[in-house]
Amino acid sequence: METITGQGMKVYKWLYIVGRNLRNPSSKRIHEFLNVSQGYSLEQLEDFQLKKLMELVAFAYQYSPFYRKALDENDIKSADIKSLSDLKKLPIITKRELIQYNSEIHTNYKFKKTFKAKTSGTSGQSLVFTRNEYADSFNRTVINHNYSNYGVNPWDRNGYFWGFNQLFFYKLKTRLLDAFQNRFRVFSYSKTEMNRFIKKLKDAQYIHGYSSSIYETARAINASEIKKPTKIKMVKGTSEKIFDYYQPEIKKAFGTKMISEYGAAEAGIIAFECTKGNMHINMEGVIVEEENNEILVTNLHMLSFPIIRYQLGDYIKLAPKNKVCACGKKHLILEDVLGRIGETVYGISDKYPSLYFYYIFKNLSEKHGLNLEYQVIQKQKGRLNFNVFSNLSTREKQLLSKEIESYFKGDITYSINTDAELVATKKGKKKSFISTINEH
Ligand SMILES: [Zn+2]
Repeated sequence: METITGQGMKVYKWLYIVGRNLRNPSSKRIHEFLNVSQGYSLEQLEDFQLKKLMELVAFAYQYSPFYRKALDENDIKSADIKSLSDLKKLPIITKRELIQYNSEIHTNYKFKKTFKAKTSGTSGQSLVFTRNEYADSFNRTVINHNYSNYGVNPWDRNGYFWGFNQLFFYKLKTRLLDAFQNRFRVFSYSKTEMNRFIKKLKDAQYIHGYSSSIYETARAINASEIKKPTKIKMVKGTSEKIFDYYQPEIKKAFGTKMISEYGAAEAGIIAFECTKGNMHINMEGVIVEEENNEILVTNLHMLSFPIIRYQLGDYIKLAPKNKVCACGKKHLILEDVLGRIGETVYGISDKYPSLYFYYIFKNLSEKHGLNLEYQVIQKQKGRLNFNVFSNLSTREKQLLSKEIESYFKGDITYSINTDAELVATKKGKKKSFISTINEH
């Protein structure tokens, strides 16, 4: 058995390396650089960022009609970028503009190799852009480099959680917790499904994907008699918020906590959690600014489609610059991603940021130890539906009401639905706030 596994791993490794060298010829060089730069001081990292930023701005001015015009109009020369704070002289760009001025933003330089990339826009329109090989390779290598800190190789067996069928877990949960109400058929189906899935996890060395799907699987494993997977070295959550209350279930099921990766297709990897639990910014790849609690990202390597001061649409909090991490890395730390800026919440007479929901549920967790998986839905102005995944006692409902009222102060009517099924997008992502008001 051991030899077969060993031979198998060699084949996977070989396949991986051959594939990588074909697709991403710059990877090897980048990998070597990252091994050195991970030991850089903050000053060295910032020097590197400045050098890359100057190159990027000069390149964008020379080859991107959009940036040439934007800089000329604002009377900025690329030589004006002499320090990282000079970045503030450059205009902020939004996703809408990346879509609207798409062809003018693209640089007209002939790259040897490029890839087409596409991001799924939540409000219909998607962004399509060209990514030069170096930027693509840089991003992939950053991910693999971070994996190596967990003893994980990219070719190791892994479980990918993407677009899990919510209905399946809903049924499973109902069956496991309340075997009386559903019939045998559903139960045996769910059990078979789960067995099959968990069996596959037996040899997995890492798992990754939507945080909520991983959490639900952990709960299912813990609630069952099935043997838990024992080889998992890393559990990585992406795309959705990782709630603190996920962690005990995940540790119990997989033997290790869930770590976080933060990024976006158009911006690249922005931060990755280290083994000491801090989200270090990928300073070799991006510059992150925090302005009015919002993130602005500059990708340092994407010369084909410059992403400069891009308003990604998340509220973030950066840690103080002098915060030290026990892992030894000097890369700046992202304290928290507070959530999508996204749509506005419409009260009866006023408007509110959707960030309110983050605080409402955070308060419940911090003040009362009440951890809820939730989704808020707005279909008409002045009214909200709070869907909560679990059952709530009368007192817990009152606590939630009290928090809602402290934020919206009577300017909203609402209902609280318990044991609710949370709606997922086509890809399986569960947004915490869904509004149908802005969609026209
Ligand atoms: Zn660290």
